[in-house]
Amino acid sequence: MSKLAILGGERVIAEKDVDKGLFHWPIVNDAMRAAQAKVLEDGNMSGTDIARRFEADFAKWQGRKYALTHNNGTNALNAAMYAIGLGPGDEIICTSVTYWASCTGALPLGATVVFCDIDPETLQMDPASLEARITPRTKAIMVVHYMAHPAPMDEIMAIAKKHNLKVIEDVSHAQGGHYKGKMLGTFGDVAAMSLMSCKSFAIGEGGMLVTDDAEIYKKAIILGHYDRIVDVCTDEEMEGPKNIPWGGLKNRMHQTAAAIGVEQLKKHDSEIAEIDRAMKYFWKGIEDIPGLKCIYPKDEGSDKAGWYASRFLYDKEAFGGISNVTFCDALNAETGGQFSFGCNMPLHLSSVFFDVETYGHGKHDRALSGDLPVAEKINGMLLGEPWFKHYDTAKIDMYIEAVRKVAANAAADLQGINDTTPIIGGVALSKRKK
Ligand SMILES: *Cc1c(COP(=O)(O)O)cnc(C)c1O
Repeated sequence: MSKLAILGGERVIAEKDVDKGLFHWPIVNDAMRAAQAKVLEDGNMSGTDIARRFEADFAKWQGRKYALTHNNGTNALNAAMYAIGLGPGDEIICTSVTYWASCTGALPLGATVVFCDIDPETLQMDPASLEARITPRTKAIMVVHYMAHPAPMDEIMAIAKKHNLKVIEDVSHAQGGHYKGKMLGTFGDVAAMSLMSCKSFAIGEGGMLVTDDAEIYKKAIILGHYDRIVDVCTDEEMEGPKNIPWGGLKNRMHQTAAAIGVEQLKKHDSEIAEIDRAMKYFWKGIEDIPGLKCIYPKDEGSDKAGWYASRFLYDKEAFGGISNVTFCDALNAETGGQFSFGCNMPLHLSSVFFDVETYGHGKHDRALSGDLPVAEKINGMLLGEPWFKHYDTAKIDMYIEAVRKVAANAAADLQGINDTTPIIGGVALSKRKK
């Protein structure tokens, strides 16, 4: 085979043949353009009429009684934690390997985040690690359907039931996904998610909270939706002016985002179905390569809807000990970008949870972790696939060819290369030392 591009050989995909449209996100249609322009022209950015329409549509799609729009996923998750009653002295268990906002909403509430480990085969919460961290103070479990893969909900819900714990799902990576035929976001007491512009369900800055529980819905409104408190509070509950949020926050969604959301919902299922087809086609082309393993749920009726930030397992022993970082750089050198390595750095290694004092609750109470061996090594075991948005087999074939070329040559040719490679295709390359 020809010389690897990272060593000066010819690229599999020449610069002029890179099709950025294959990856562009979100996919924008005329209905979205018109809907958001109308909000602006009507001066209706801070209303709630379109947000309510989006909520009604979203709740129906999600199969939940209530949906409540938020200005971002971070605040929707904080609202979910507040609404299930998480407060000072309580503990909430969350995986260490996730985006920070899965658990930081517990900090202003004065609760303690307890980190648990993940399963290295699925990257999801490890039920044994979860159960080992339950104490009399544990109030809730924050389950993240991480990188589009469903968490093991049968085991998690059984543990929650046994110990009488609340369950919150963070669906930021997996909107529209399923576990054993049931939609993600419908297992726990409440689910919250980001609808930020990079996520599978991308409407800009935005978040959603969904629940079947009227009390949770009401508390999320009380916390940060001042102009909707009259909808849920009786005169006896609140004296004087009613338009003051009890939690002092303002979580309202911008209505241009809601208007885009109404339109995105109409096409979301078909878009993630096409992504699924494209990603599976890509995997068919590389699945026989020893050392590369797709992470995909095995259960009937489970899926990886949207394939957001998808990762796969890289076994460096199959490639002469070449690191995932070097392997990734070699892939990006062949293709002009789109491959990535690692995942979120483990949160339990951040001083934010242990060494700083923000709210006067005491820094030693902010988080607990213990040993998390998988969380601490997983970043060296993962690569990220290109996120194909279109089922264009001729173009996907070129990425398959690139993987095959690098896989065939890595062990022999990449030993000892150092970090002088430039940034390729906007993807920052590693700073590695020989
Ligand atoms: C993006 C993300 C969030 C936060 O959502 P924002 O809309 O960015 O505030 C929370 N949890 C996870 C897992 C995320 O990826």
